Amino acid sequence: MLFKDAAEFYSKLEGISSRLEMIDVLTDLFKKAERGEIKQLIYFTQGMLAPPFEGVEIGVAEKMTEEAIAAATGFTKENAVMSFRKTGDLGLTAEELVAKTRLRRMLSNKFTISEVFETMLKIATRSGVGSQEGKIKHLSELLAASSPTEARYITRFAMGQLRLGVGDATILEALAKAFTGSREAKERLEEAYNICSDLGRVGEVLMRDGIKGVEHIKVTLFSPVRPALAERLPTAKEILEKMGGTAAVESKYDGLRTQVHVDKTAKRVEIFSRRLEKLTPMFPELVKAALEEVHAKKAIFEGEAILFDEVSEQFRPFQETIQRKRKHGVEAMSTEMPLHIFAFDLLYLDGEDYLDVPYKERRKKLEEIIKGSGTLRLSGKIVTNSPKEFEKYFEQEISDGLEGVIAKDLNAKYIAGARKFSWIKMKRSYKGELSDTLDLVIIGFYRGRGQRTEFGFGGLLAAVYNDKKDVFESVTRIGTGFSEEMMKQFRDILSKIKKDKKPARVVSVMEPDFWVEPKYVVTVRADEITKSPMHMAGAETQDDGSSIGYALRFPRIVSGGIREDKSSEESTTTKELIEMFTQQRKSKLAEN
Ligand code: ATP
Repeated sequence: MLFKDAAEFYSKLEGISSRLEMIDVLTDLFKKAERGEIKQLIYFTQGMLAPPFEGVEIGVAEKMTEEAIAAATGFTKENAVMSFRKTGDLGLTAEELVAKTRLRRMLSNKFTISEVFETMLKIATRSGVGSQEGKIKHLSELLAASSPTEARYITRFAMGQLRLGVGDATILEALAKAFTGSREAKERLEEAYNICSDLGRVGEVLMRDGIKGVEHIKVTLFSPVRPALAERLPTAKEILEKMGGTAAVESKYDGLRTQVHVDKTAKRVEIFSRRLEKLTPMFPELVKAALEEVHAKKAIFEGEAILFDEVSEQFRPFQETIQRKRKHGVEAMSTEMPLHIFAFDLLYLDGEDYLDVPYKERRKKLEEIIKGSGTLRLSGKIVTNSPKEFEKYFEQEISDGLEGVIAKDLNAKYIAGARKFSWIKMKRSYKGELSDTLDLVIIGFYRGRGQRTEFGFGGLLAAVYNDKKDVFESVTRIGTGFSEEMMKQFRDILSKIKKDKKPARVVSVMEPDFWVEPKYVVTVRADEITKSPMHMAGAETQDDGSSIGYALRFPRIVSGGIREDKSSEESTTTKELIEMFTQQRKSKLAEN
């Protein structure tokens, strides 16, 4: 498939505001791919060179891109800089300057998607002496042979800014339509994706072996599994009833979720975050512990990594644990602030996939392979059928400085990538406040007014994720809780991802001063969930044609700005918001 064709599809996608149309365009795009290309085409469309867990990053710097554009078009670097000042997007600058280059028309642009992909891979992986010049050369050679439209997408991709606004669910649906003829297969594709976390692999297997092949995708060492998530219910009694009378109740630690893959035979360990990024280089003490303290040859287990003082047996707050997530001074930090992992699940053991094994057996095996009182420990746990005993355990955990508990259904499978009632969390709630925080996606921001004019930032417009429709629905405007430092941080970060119109997957009647790409997540606490015609979260159309959605009362930002461990599609969903609304109503009725 020629890259020229892919670029035309990308250009079409940019002009579309409906998700269904997006699916149709993507379906046609995927149908055009040859077998050997589909994987690369999917990654390219995601703006990536490999699934995120492989950590292959492309992100050519602005200055280098300007040089490459100049070298490719014969314009000066100053011309490129001036055009960039006007367009604010080097993709558009490349397009403009390439279009102005008369020579270009004499060249035929016949490179394939694979050729562009391979060159991008070279750009991303070149390192060492002379690598900057090498990267500029590769990029300028591509641009020199591009049409204006190709130049736009090549430049954006090389800078790590392709941003077509296409979500995973949209890609899965388009793959189902392209290769099975109907969207029905989407769920089975999603299950496979939840197991291997690699859309390219799912697409490739589907195209080669059909849906049967996709069903055979199993857990593999060093390919992370998308994490299981917890629902919420407010009382021990309701949780036990929902779980059929008896459940395991585990301590809920407030640290970093880690998925540890260990192969002792090959002496290899990889640690993945909740977002499935590789954390391995950041935590040498955990790598060492996985090799020394796991009593198995090969295993994949999950646990919460947290700062924990062995002498006082005190847990440290999340804000301190998160400081360990950095790339510099790693060795020193690993001895000054060593982490512990409290393991809570087992996904694979010595060649066997454990996802379909009931929790009680997974846990039993986990207890056989992790016995330690060292760096690796087991999460605290009781098994009970008594709401009283449940509550006592919960109170004990709270007084020990933990967040609450997570109940687990003894007979449930591990449900990868989904929030289900096989895990139910219960946190401490305070009167007059929602019992849980919400993780919201930023979809826009406001200019500062009054005292805030100098910061150029006056608040956020935020959304929940509707995972059924794969769109972001506005739920609140947030104006409080920001420190001066945070306001500057938000202004700087959000200015880089401004959009001149409402992005395709955003649903909102509120108009912020600036729209942004739905990329960053913040944690928000609120007093109450209300119904409001101003917001579109879970909106239902009324008889008079207007619609009423859910909104937050007195929303404020909690702790430390942007939540880097969550992607926009991992934010609170519309379904969760509505469940929280229903629970709030029930507890109000109970109080009265
Ligand atoms: P929160 O912000 O409340 O942690 P979340 O959306 O990140 O919520 P949930 O699905 O609500 O995730 O809760 C599960 C999270 O709790 C896991 O991602 C994990 O990081 C953490 N956790 C701590 N202890 C446990 C445990 N014993 N079992 C499972 N998860 C645990």
